[in-house]
Amino acid sequence: MDGLCHETEKIIENHLRRRGIWKDEKLWEVGKSRFSGRGVYATRDIQPGEIIFVDSPVILGPRAIPENTCVSCYNDTNIVLCPMSCGLYLCPSCLDGDKHSQECAKINSWKTEKSFVTDRMMICLAPIRSLFLDDSDRESISMLEAHREPQHGIEVDLMKKKMLLELCDEEENWIRLTCAVLDANSFEVLPKTGPTLRGLFPLSSLLNHSCVPNVMHVFDEDHHMILKAAKPIKKGEEIFLTYSRILWCTLSRRTHLLRTKHFACECPRCHDPTEFGTNLSAMLCESCSGFVLPKNPLIFNGVWTCNSCDRQVEESKIAFIMSVLAKRFSDVDEDHMKSFDLFRSKSEKIIPKCNQVSLEFMYRTIWILGGAELSDEHFQIKGECLKYVLDVLMKLDVGASKMRGLLLHELYKCQKELISRGIVMDEKFNEDEILEEAAEIYMFDVSAPEIIKNVWKKKNLSTDWNDYFF
Ligand SMILES: [Zn+2]
Ligand SMILES: [Zn+2]
Ligand SMILES: [Zn+2]
Ligand SMILES: [Zn+2]
Repeated sequence: MDGLCHETEKIIENHLRRRGIWKDEKLWEVGKSRFSGRGVYATRDIQPGEIIFVDSPVILGPRAIPENTCVSCYNDTNIVLCPMSCGLYLCPSCLDGDKHSQECAKINSWKTEKSFVTDRMMICLAPIRSLFLDDSDRESISMLEAHREPQHGIEVDLMKKKMLLELCDEEENWIRLTCAVLDANSFEVLPKTGPTLRGLFPLSSLLNHSCVPNVMHVFDEDHHMILKAAKPIKKGEEIFLTYSRILWCTLSRRTHLLRTKHFACECPRCHDPTEFGTNLSAMLCESCSGFVLPKNPLIFNGVWTCNSCDRQVEESKIAFIMSVLAKRFSDVDEDHMKSFDLFRSKSEKIIPKCNQVSLEFMYRTIWILGGAELSDEHFQIKGECLKYVLDVLMKLDVGASKMRGLLLHELYKCQKELISRGIVMDEKFNEDEILEEAAEIYMFDVSAPEIIKNVWKKKNLSTDWNDYFF
């Protein structure tokens, strides 16, 4: 292990010890990555579902501008404006607490006669909270990668230019750095209720990206991040998360990663023009209806060729057609089945069923087609879409992903409903097994649906990760 990795591990150890989540026999270590800088590696063989580590945020705050909620507990009932006139809201039970007092005093100290606080202040809270951290936590932030490009750190400009607050140089510099680190590393945290939060988890931030991840993460009630193996991991293997959307094709993922994370992915999936046989990128050839795929997916603006007649197409043309189709079908009207038929008839000559745009349309169909009020036919369509997307996930080799859990849970409900109507969809799918697998994937997740929580209860499973981790 080189000096930087050793130093990093020391900072992480201190961070975890201080929060009572350090474990001596750890399953991970920091090492030099083949791809970029540092990475995290398995210290022994790890089984699917095993907890690799638990991390806790050094900073936590709202991610987008939510409806007004309590800035301490994110509750939105009976909230009132903070009596100290900082411009933010609190709920009755947080009014007496002191969780908000430091940031409240700070915001008030920045105010001049002209300044005012708007709901935009909510997204500035996470970086502002970094001002109150001690040296150890500041060290955790400073050791992480930061995005210094001008599009990052808009929070400081919001505060200075829109809300006319007066920050001193030292504060401004530190908040700017925190914003740059947050943009490069923060995780979306889905609490039980309330708005989506963003949290900075130092150890999790060291995980590199792959479009073929081998772990998944969930959050508990106290915003701990529990990192679990999504498939078997061998000793010495690098541990990868995914920062992109699993169902996007290579061009979409790589463009998005380059724009937001400033790197071009070169993982095994990005290498393979067929993306493990899913052909998520495929367009239909105008001449022969073969699949047009990128010749070398690692080159931006390269040439795409038909796999049966060798006809060549420029990538820019492909990207244009995809964006037109995606836009045309991004809004699905209320009579979704009409749109479904329309989509099929409009797109079937341009893209195959396996193309990303078609897959995303199916994915949306699953959630738009609701429950009990659906006709038998619509239920069957929903079931088909569910199985199709699940099959693609399987081929993409992402293991026990969050999306798989979500879809299995939905498929379970769908199967149950069909059975109650006397329709057997597919003998191959046993609804109890589906539910059981979903329950395993959701393990320790505070946002798990009730049906899943009931499975845990029925099996007398402890839902406290402490019982498994330590
Ligand atoms: Zn509250
Ligand atoms: Zn206040
Ligand atoms: Zn990739
Ligand atoms: Zn062709």
